[in-house]
Amino acid sequence: MARRITILGATGSVGRSTLDLIEREGEGAFEIVALTANSDVAGLAELARNFRPERAVIGDPARFDELKAALAGTNVAVSAGREAIIEAAGAQADWTMAAIVGTAGLAPVMRALEGGGIVALANKEALVSAGALMTEAARRSGATLLPVDSEHNAVFQCLHGARAAEIRRIILTASGGPFRTWTLDEMRAATPEQAVAHPNWSMGAKISVDSATLMNKGLELIEAYHLFPVKADQLEAVVHPQSIVHSLVEYCDGSLLAQLGPADMRVPIAYTLAWPQRMATPCTGLDLATIARLDFEAPDFERFPALALARQALAEGGAKPAILNAANEVAVASYLARSIGFLDIAAIVGDVMAAYDPPTPATIEAVLEIDAEARAVARRVTGKIHV
Ligand code: NAD
Ligand code: MG
Repeated sequence: MARRITILGATGSVGRSTLDLIEREGEGAFEIVALTANSDVAGLAELARNFRPERAVIGDPARFDELKAALAGTNVAVSAGREAIIEAAGAQADWTMAAIVGTAGLAPVMRALEGGGIVALANKEALVSAGALMTEAARRSGATLLPVDSEHNAVFQCLHGARAAEIRRIILTASGGPFRTWTLDEMRAATPEQAVAHPNWSMGAKISVDSATLMNKGLELIEAYHLFPVKADQLEAVVHPQSIVHSLVEYCDGSLLAQLGPADMRVPIAYTLAWPQRMATPCTGLDLATIARLDFEAPDFERFPALALARQALAEGGAKPAILNAANEVAVASYLARSIGFLDIAAIVGDVMAAYDPPTPATIEAVLEIDAEARAVARRVTGKIHV
């Protein structure tokens, strides 16, 4: 039977990679229930004409008429607004790709998890801000949470259902980003163009900047904490510039298992799309003799303070990861808009984390309140910076 699929964030990098795999499988393998996007009407309409979902949803309510007109003559139902995206996330799909970027994905991911199907989770910010609530919702509904993020997908593959007591460490690899060998002075003047030019992966702008600050690895440590049965001190990050080893699990007997593959998100996405089986992808395998060597180095917490801040948020727990994530989103957006410098990103996140300490949020609404407050504080701090 065809797997019924919804893609939240269909027009993004992960969303399009998912649709590329679906297209390659040909007619009959998958049925598309819903595709959603934020504001890219032309992109969403083109995907909807090509993939014929039951519904296309645009986040920006002002774009409803435009989307409706663009899909005139098709039988694709059209809706708009934040609530409509959440509703689409709850529509009966067997498999949902959660690929909205940032906190905007939180409520839709929660709704998809409550539905009890398979949720392929790319939206790492949802787990960082509300990991405990997300995993609890999945447990209650019986939903299956499959990690799409390449590192977590690698760990998931290496774990293969292992018991907690058997796991000694989980080691996430980090490419080190485009500034791996830069001095602090060089990084101070780094432009957004330089920051988004990732050496190995092609991704959306926000996550590319996060890779350059290493905040991405910090967010991923928190993500891993919620996905896998380990304590914070069993999680480590190691810099591996070639991005060939995607992450590793060390077992109590000393065995270290790694997953290796090309730096193409279609590999982990395909793993989740076909799970518990595997499906073919067009990605070519690794030529180990040509690669010849794999390098590893310890991360530098001084040049990359964002990683230290994320570890701190993980250790402190409660609302801190949500504050870290929200402050980082504001700082990255300001950096991309050239209002602050590259090193200001981590400095702002550190200031916002130190500014206040709300109680642990018990609901998604409480997480969103903390998120909004952290953003307001971050904007105030950011407004004081002049570049
Ligand atoms: P992207 O910016 O390319 O796409 C984001 C998608 O989310 C788009 O479809 C956009 O329309 C939608 N969106 C943005 N803001 C929205 C809002 N307010 N409401 C509703 N929809 C909104 O991002 P991406 O690179 O595809 O990343 C998506 C998620 O996957 C992120 O959480 C990212 O951290 C994670 N991720 C991405 C990669 C990658 O290789 N790109 C790898 C690992 C994890
Ligand atoms: Mg990753």
